[in-house]
Amino acid sequence: MKWDKIVLKLGGIIMILFLVVLLPLGFVVNQIFSGFYFNEIQEETEVLSQRYARTIKSIENPMTHSMFESLADLTNKEVIILNKEKKEVTNSGVSGFAISEGEFNELLSGNPITKQIEEIPNKHKFYVSGHPISTSGDFIGAVFVLTSVDGIYDSISKVRNFLILSGFGALFLALGFTFMISRKMSAPLLKMEKATRQLTRGNLDVRLEVSSRDEIGSLSQAINDLAQELNRYRTNRREFFADISHELRTPISYLQGYAQVLREGYYQNNDEKQQYLKIIQDESNRLTQLINDVFELSKMEEARIDLNFDYVNISEIAEQALSKVQREAQIKGLNTSLRVTNHLPLIKADSVRMEQIFINLLSNAIRYSNEGLIKVEIVFNHKYLKVDIADNGIGIPKEELPYIFERFHRVEKSRSRDFGGTGLGLAIVKQLVELQNGSITVDSQIGNGTRFTLSFPIEEENYEKI
Ligand code: ADP
Repeated sequence: MKWDKIVLKLGGIIMILFLVVLLPLGFVVNQIFSGFYFNEIQEETEVLSQRYARTIKSIENPMTHSMFESLADLTNKEVIILNKEKKEVTNSGVSGFAISEGEFNELLSGNPITKQIEEIPNKHKFYVSGHPISTSGDFIGAVFVLTSVDGIYDSISKVRNFLILSGFGALFLALGFTFMISRKMSAPLLKMEKATRQLTRGNLDVRLEVSSRDEIGSLSQAINDLAQELNRYRTNRREFFADISHELRTPISYLQGYAQVLREGYYQNNDEKQQYLKIIQDESNRLTQLINDVFELSKMEEARIDLNFDYVNISEIAEQALSKVQREAQIKGLNTSLRVTNHLPLIKADSVRMEQIFINLLSNAIRYSNEGLIKVEIVFNHKYLKVDIADNGIGIPKEELPYIFERFHRVEKSRSRDFGGTGLGLAIVKQLVELQNGSITVDSQIGNGTRFTLSFPIEEENYEKI
């Protein structure tokens, strides 16, 4: 299981950290503690032995022996006095005390000695300080003060045991916490893994509970957003295929129907035959248009079209577009006008795509108008370039306005067919406008006409005045 791995990793790291911190810390505490007590004992023992050595005038005097034995009792230390033949003359009760030849020679030469001994057989440990005793410059023996260090060793081992115990206690506590925390952390991770696997299998309705505001919470939120986005994409794609197959079916059924009529000779005269041939031609044109539009739109929706941005004069583009739709307008008896209210800057845009926007909107205006004027007005207000394309046509019902930029959305199903549209024109326009950082809005009244307004924000550094 995954959390086992996390527990192991975290547990291992915590263990190593503890060892790295606790071992040197224990060592240092131990050294400081034992060093402090040893120093105290050493100093005390050496001072005493030095003082005793100075006090003693004769080492053969039994009074001296009994006095030092009493002193040993009083000070809780042992005292041993050796004569110049290295023989014990006083011993307050330490068995097996001996000094080496070298140490005796040191004393003979007037130097003190220190050492640690262990009493045999009861294993008591002592710190020993020996000083030479001399009268009128002659070495007459040496006095040794012995302080038991058993207590220190006891305390040191108690402190050491305490350190080891508390170290282990803290380690187990930390491991316990690690275990709990990593389980708590890995539980949502496991849920996320499960959820993403479900997403991979196509279950896009899966959602995670976002129960915290930390990185885990935001990761869960990101997975939810991803699922939602995938879901939206899938629904969109399904609708797209449903729409497109529906749209293709209608012209194809016309083509099949009229081709069959013609093949089987079900027509009265040549005029009727020409009429059917015209329908076949129109429908195949519409099919070509539809396929081109679908292809364009899908490229735009996936941001796969490359725009060639350059400084363009938008009124020239409007003029060009107007001249291209002029014939269509004339056929329907419509007038067109272009009004540019003030000096326009050159703006950064793709001239071909901008013309396409104009042509689509103008074609719609012509298609859905039977009389009146089609007006194009361009205004520059230093922050925005605004383009209005207005007609006095049949208008769009208010409740339809929010949907007309959706692909294949038609105000009345038969309406645009009668007028020869594909239902993709405005969807393409919206995509093209947005790809050029603009926005498009619509205002319309049934029977009075429709006005599309394009707006392109212009940063000062992005335009050049004409
Ligand atoms: P179509 O190719 O069918 O015209 P569009 O996407 O260009 O598709 O337009 C969507 C719908 O919006 C059209 O079917 C039409 O009903 C309506 N529409 C668009 N432009 C106008 C207009 N200028 N006047 C009236 N209705 C319009």
